[in-house]
Amino acid sequence: MAKTKSKARKSKSHNHKKVSHLHKIYKTKRKTKDHDQIHQDLKLKNAHELLNQAIEHDMPGAAQNYCVHCARYFIDEIALKEHFRTKLHKRRMKALETEPYTQEEANRAAGIGCFVAPKKFDIKTQPDKQKLEKIFEETVDKDNII
Ligand SMILES: [Zn+2]
Repeated sequence: MAKTKSKARKSKSHNHKKVSHLHKIYKTKRKTKDHDQIHQDLKLKNAHELLNQAIEHDMPGAAQNYCVHCARYFIDEIALKEHFRTKLHKRRMKALETEPYTQEEANRAAGIGCFVAPKKFDIKTQPDKQKLEKIFEETVDKDNII
């Protein structure tokens, strides 16, 4: 009885090793930006730059259809709009609602400083290019007046 058990375990662990080896390859295959990097990108100036990139033929869709939240390029506007309705995109938006992890938070967890509740952000799917252009122009004008 004991012998057969150990045999089964051996083969299981062997299979597991193979899977984890492959998993490492695929884990980095579709690696995108981390959440704190995306929070930087979501600032209006950065978002404006990312959504108005120069035409680059090596990128999908010549780098003209970009999802800021997922840091992904799409081949055309239809694909981009379809992506906004997917689970992947919605999950990402939900994850971006909380404040990105920082060293300060790690210190607080270790007993340095007091607990501060994480901030919540109101994340919305990026507007159309024309709408974003308008928002950008309005805020730039206001900054000039002040
Ligand atoms: Zn997305």
